[in-house]
Amino acid sequence: MNRLFLFALFGILTINVMAQKKTVQTAGRDQLGEFAPKFAQLNDDVLFGEVWSRTDRLGLRDRSIVTITSLISQGITDSSLTYHLQSAKNNGITRTEIAEIITHIGFYAGWPKAWAAFRLAKEVWSEDTAGEDAKAAFQRGMIFPIGEPNTAYAEYFTGNSYLAPISREQVSVFNVTFEPRCRNNWHIHNAVKGGGQMLVGVAGRGWYQEEGKPAVEILPGTVVHIPVGVRHWHGAASGSWFAHLAIEVPGESTSTQWFEPVTDEEYDRLHK
Ligand code: MN
Repeated sequence: MNRLFLFALFGILTINVMAQKKTVQTAGRDQLGEFAPKFAQLNDDVLFGEVWSRTDRLGLRDRSIVTITSLISQGITDSSLTYHLQSAKNNGITRTEIAEIITHIGFYAGWPKAWAAFRLAKEVWSEDTAGEDAKAAFQRGMIFPIGEPNTAYAEYFTGNSYLAPISREQVSVFNVTFEPRCRNNWHIHNAVKGGGQMLVGVAGRGWYQEEGKPAVEILPGTVVHIPVGVRHWHGAASGSWFAHLAIEVPGESTSTQWFEPVTDEEYDRLHK
């Protein structure tokens, strides 16, 4: 679990370093250094070294959107657009977003320009699957991190889940993210004294069900109190990513007892 925390910390540090990092560009000098040294210097040192580097005023991701919009609007769909599409991808623009951006540009700049841009964008985002985009889109709408794949408990889950530690002191709190249809097995939180679990819906739509009772919908802000000794499961709804905070209520000799998975038949009954 400590490793998960370090991962999260490392991610934040990397972003901070990136925010201060100067954009280094040598394309001008590489391609035009001898033929047009002044143009090369303006390109590398001023356009990239100064303007692109002012990330405290406007981030790289936004600058990428401005740049590709400008290029496509002028009908520039050569290797310079490919370069800027690639850097837009590096700056965090997803496959779903670039499709939306170019569709939008098409109405203002012209249909054939959008067609030409799509041919290049398809190549740049060729390896990205729609599934990865859905995860990125879910993360953008959520204040807590998705974290790392929940490999430690994968055997007790149907589908893919992710864990991010939120608090490791006083009360342990994790943000648990479920892909659509993902849910944990039937389980019981045990304790000799105290114990149990609280869930707080963070993003998307999910379910909580106690054995023998109807399932309860969890939406952002929904609070669920799970007493010790009650057999239950929690997870995403069929058509939605879902995240909840899992708060371990302190107690004596706390443990979780895992049982069989929630079958598709049981799960699909909730969506009829
Ligand atoms: Mn539970």
